[in-house]
Amino acid sequence: MKDKAEVVVIGGGVNGLGVAYWLAKKGLDDVVVLEKSYLGSGASGRNTGGVRQQWASKYNIILARESVKMFEKLSDELNFNIMFRQTGYLILIWDEEELEQFKKNVKLQNSLGVPSKIITPEEAKEIVPPLNIKNIIAATFCKKDGVLHPLALVWGYERALKRMGIEINTFTEVKDIKVENGEIKEVVTNRGNIKTNIVVNATGPHAPIIGKMVGVDIPITPYRHEIMVSEPLQPILDPMILSFKHGLYVTQTNRGEIIGGISTDEKPGYDIRGTVQFAERFSRAIVEIIPQMKYVNMLRQWAGLYDMTPDAQPIIGPTEGVHEMIQINGFSGHGVMLNPISVKLVAELIVDGKTSIDISPLSLDRFKEPMEVKEKLVVG
Ligand SMILES: Cc1cc2nc3c(=O)[nH]c(=O)nc-3n(C[C@H](O)[C@H](O)[C@H](O)COP(=O)(O)OP(=O)(O)OC[C@H]3O[C@@H](n4cnc5c(N)ncnc54)[C@H](O)[C@@H]3O)c2cc1C
Repeated sequence: MKDKAEVVVIGGGVNGLGVAYWLAKKGLDDVVVLEKSYLGSGASGRNTGGVRQQWASKYNIILARESVKMFEKLSDELNFNIMFRQTGYLILIWDEEELEQFKKNVKLQNSLGVPSKIITPEEAKEIVPPLNIKNIIAATFCKKDGVLHPLALVWGYERALKRMGIEINTFTEVKDIKVENGEIKEVVTNRGNIKTNIVVNATGPHAPIIGKMVGVDIPITPYRHEIMVSEPLQPILDPMILSFKHGLYVTQTNRGEIIGGISTDEKPGYDIRGTVQFAERFSRAIVEIIPQMKYVNMLRQWAGLYDMTPDAQPIIGPTEGVHEMIQINGFSGHGVMLNPISVKLVAELIVDGKTSIDISPLSLDRFKEPMEVKEKLVVG
């Protein structure tokens, strides 16, 4: 392991790997990635890979819109198939109050260039023939949304980094960061120390622990989110379906498995064991939405952590009081879909000292002020 680097990136999920990739692409290749377990061992290897631009807050929409443009080319760029397919997101609407809210969301999305629209239950059934439309009054659909294979994104970045000669150290845990007069001096790990002046904190739900090492509070709370897959079926479900009434999302993988999750009454914590309550709640809800699912065997379930911020928007940018400590964390359950543009912006900040999109509203500082916007459309 190197004992000196221009930049140390902590975290081997999509955001840490993506930042390292963009730094190298911009010519800064004296970079080391440190991951305490294996690559993708955090949420990056445990999610559904959903890519949605249908958000209610401006910044989530902009970051998702820019990321979709980048995902469209990323397999070619990485020379690795991340299996991105634009089969849309279908959001079910159950009552007038929801409809009014979604009309506003669609208006905001359209004004920012996202081609979402309100459709009738019958149109929703054309998109997903087995859908039970008995109790829905409308839906929204954006055909440019989609899904990808999240581990393929991890592996695509990993291979690109190896080709570019970037050192990745797995099973290397950051234990401390030495700071003098607000300047970073050294990163301490279980495998030795690395002298550096620039650190990127891409540790998701562990970001507050890294923050404490430099005396900074990062308001991220970890919550368990579970997920489940069925036996493989013939293709029946092209888009990702969301139902905020149930807190449910579900789609079908390329291998034919039905995959999805649902909100449960979680308390904050780092526990990622599966629960029977989740399996029961998900199974009941999915049968209500797609009745044929009652004949299908669910095979496997697992869990990961959402790194929730108070406003459910990510933290991207510098850290007041600690020069060159860059945050990219707190993605609140949507860090894959916002990944390509977020990691590019962090690399711009480090290499160019400025970013092509103003990210000041996403800075850690924002939590000092009363909350202006809270994203409400987090699911699962
Ligand atoms: C069940 C579930 C479903 C999801 N579905 C979606 C979805 O459909 N679409 C979407 O966009 N997002 C989804 N997400 C969210 C998405 O997975 C995350 O937002 C994203 O993976 C965050 O990536 P990351 O690189 O920031 O963090 P992580 O992938 O969590 O990576 C952080 C890494 O830091 C490492 N680390 C922590 N502390 C240290 C240390 N001290 N030293 C060294 N390494 C350390 C960890 O081991 C970990 O590998 C889902 C999440 C879950 C749990």
